[in-house]
Amino acid sequence: MVPRYIKNRERLRALLPELKRHLEGCSLCPRRCQADRRVIKGLCGAGDQTAVALFQPFFYEEPPISGGRGAGNVFFSGCNLTCLFCQNYEISHKHRGVSLSIEELADIFLRLQNEDRTHNINLVSPTAHLPFIVPALLLAAEQGLNIPVVYNTNGYETLESLEIIALFTDIFLSDLKYISSESSGELSGAADYPHFAWKAVEKMIAGNGFGLFTDEGLMQEGVIIRHLVLPGYIEESIRLLEEIRRCFGKYVPVSVMSQYTPVWKAKDTPSLNRPLNEKEYQRIITTIEKLEFENGWVQGLESSTEEYIPHFFSEKVQLFERKGV
Ligand code: SF4
Repeated sequence: MVPRYIKNRERLRALLPELKRHLEGCSLCPRRCQADRRVIKGLCGAGDQTAVALFQPFFYEEPPISGGRGAGNVFFSGCNLTCLFCQNYEISHKHRGVSLSIEELADIFLRLQNEDRTHNINLVSPTAHLPFIVPALLLAAEQGLNIPVVYNTNGYETLESLEIIALFTDIFLSDLKYISSESSGELSGAADYPHFAWKAVEKMIAGNGFGLFTDEGLMQEGVIIRHLVLPGYIEESIRLLEEIRRCFGKYVPVSVMSQYTPVWKAKDTPSLNRPLNEKEYQRIITTIEKLEFENGWVQGLESSTEEYIPHFFSEKVQLFERKGV
């Protein structure tokens, strides 16, 4: 299957000036903070160069994404949400990462494909970095990149940006974190998250469908909806799962994560300062069974340990050390 960034390369090339204009006044995500990123950082921490905290074959995504050789994860620095419990806070809130040129980013994509033989390029928290990702993909494609692109997002996206993203994304791996604006405002600093994220996922499904797979079971095109269950917010998760079922039917691939570990500001927030308990977990399992989802994954409770949280590097030399550069 020909990846979309190859099929749509001319349309993507024509969009490069529009993407670059966001560096002068950014409205790539629903924050629309209009930061002139040439002189100040946006609310998400993005500046006038891309920044990457880590790239590596990654084995903790869903099975059709990780496969046997791993997903080709590229963790971008910064985030447009301020989740108190962020499992990747080192990179999202502390903005760990090293600045890279477009050529260096293209080189990372090619290394993951050619040396690590990953099944895909998995762009993690990519939206603020679109002005660099698109030219880097085009450049890498000229040099032989031909594996699918996964867009791994918190779901807080605008439909305008998704028009562009859909031109190069084969697989969406999108969170749906909340259904209520009270919870999203309180825990992630974005009361409008449900409004934007549900519309975004609707558009992803309309464009990419539920999934096309290779004979080995690797996803080549499609959408996976992810939801992290939070302790003390079980009713929120149950309502959200019911709404997913009502809006998208029983065949939509859903990944329910119970790996929650109290880190970052969750350690100082009494309602979040513990893992899920067995009773909460069982209520989620019962809900999934009752709703009769046909495709999806649920993590076991034993996954809730900090060892599953990737560690990030902050120096360029460390970023490339693994490859002996
Ligand atoms: S992507 Fe970042 S810089 Fe751009 S609008 Fe959103 S928060 Fe602001």
